[in-house]
Amino acid sequence: MDRFNRISTIIIFFIYCAFLPVWIYNLTWVNALLAVGMYWFLADVVQGLFLHRWASHELWSPPSWLQKALSTISVFALSGNPIGYAALHRQHHKYTDTENDPHSPKHKGVWYVTSSLWRFEKIDPKRVADRLRVPYFISIGKWEGIIAITFNLLLFAIVYNTLGLQWFLTVWATPVALSIILINFFVNVALHKKGKPVDNKLVWPFAFSECLHGTHHYGPMKLNYNMWDPSGRLVSLFGWTKESLSYKDATSVPKYHRTP
Ligand SMILES: [Zn+2]
Ligand SMILES: [Zn+2]
Repeated sequence: MDRFNRISTIIIFFIYCAFLPVWIYNLTWVNALLAVGMYWFLADVVQGLFLHRWASHELWSPPSWLQKALSTISVFALSGNPIGYAALHRQHHKYTDTENDPHSPKHKGVWYVTSSLWRFEKIDPKRVADRLRVPYFISIGKWEGIIAITFNLLLFAIVYNTLGLQWFLTVWATPVALSIILINFFVNVALHKKGKPVDNKLVWPFAFSECLHGTHHYGPMKLNYNMWDPSGRLVSLFGWTKESLSYKDATSVPKYHRTP
């Protein structure tokens, strides 16, 4: 089932990538603005804030309904489920830029990392014991492929038949494809320069607060709540912050979250 999940989601992702030239050929300013808005939501909120900074590192405290909603959207958007994502990401922190890092550009290659093929790397369930306690995450992880295929086919059928192909590409397929390619490229490749995690504010338009990736690896590990972190500011606005992870008590972060 696990292999089926990974193969089916990566096939949909490759199909969406193949349609990028069609979308660009028919592009209008309205299409571009809508796709940018959706890209921000999928890249910064779903991948950055939820999968990375909550599912992997628990740096804020989303209510249970929001955990379920964002994990469902993440599976719809081919970004993975909280268990699988956290397992691979915690492995990335433990073995950063070594041969055991699931997406080290130095050891696995730029194409392998950018195309998301690293999601086929083996996961160690020991590292996600906390996430395995939530039955909803187990179910959504188990049925990830079926859920993603069903949702994407249904959405395509509805939008294609009502608004046409370009609208389906604008509001869904293009932002989904770009949120995977660009986050992989800018965070996992460009911000792991010469075998080391680095900061680079120039990649903010694509990676948002993840542009401070070197700081994230070496600590203090926390949300920023500043101008570089729009989704972190939303967390602050809604009162979902978690104050415990300041630099002083960074040792309270479990070992597998830290870069040696
Ligand atoms: Zn991380
Ligand atoms: Zn990293």
